[in-house]
Amino acid sequence: MSRGLLIVLSGPSGVGKGTVCSELRRRQSDLVYSVSATTRLPRQGEVDGINYFFKTREHFQDMIAHDALLEYAEYVGNYYGTPRDFVERTLAMGKDIILEIEVQGALKVKEKFSEGVFIFLVPPSLDELKHRITCRGTENADVIDHRMSVAVEEMNLISYYDYAVVNDQIDAACHRIQSIITAEHCRKDRF
Ligand code: 5GP
Repeated sequence: MSRGLLIVLSGPSGVGKGTVCSELRRRQSDLVYSVSATTRLPRQGEVDGINYFFKTREHFQDMIAHDALLEYAEYVGNYYGTPRDFVERTLAMGKDIILEIEVQGALKVKEKFSEGVFIFLVPPSLDELKHRITCRGTENADVIDHRMSVAVEEMNLISYYDYAVVNDQIDAACHRIQSIITAEHCRKDRF
């Protein structure tokens, strides 16, 4: 049995990673989603263990100390990280797993799993990105400005990725990503 694919979907905050990821999971029920740990407070409607594992800073630092995270990053004042065991077990079972994470974390995963499939989701424009973050209505003006300045820096790191997919429309973006996954499964070095 060949190992599953480690798929990393990354890109700036507000580009629509979460929406694209949910739609992909709806279309491909065999695609396993990695639930991240975070010290951010839950937003309305978010459920512990489904959207994130919500942790205190102390508990998160404990996970770092015990090497329980595949990667982690501090992003706009909060920690975010990928629980290691779940990812490794899923891949060993031959199942594909998708990580929806920010850019610094994605680059750390790349150092450990160069065979992963790294996809950068690109906003149609920076104006559109700001519009999407603002319309989400979950962040105040300072956080929006901070997320925008991080986004501009993140866009410069696109060259580290295998694929760049413009998220102009959810349906089209998902279709492109599904094609990438299909192509990756057909790579001759997997046989
Ligand atoms: P949000 O607070 O909007 O849920 O997430 C903020 C950013 O953190 C998003 O870009 C999201 O993709 C990223 N993120 C979520 N989980 C992880 C993770 O486990 N590791 C890293 N490095 N980033 C994550």
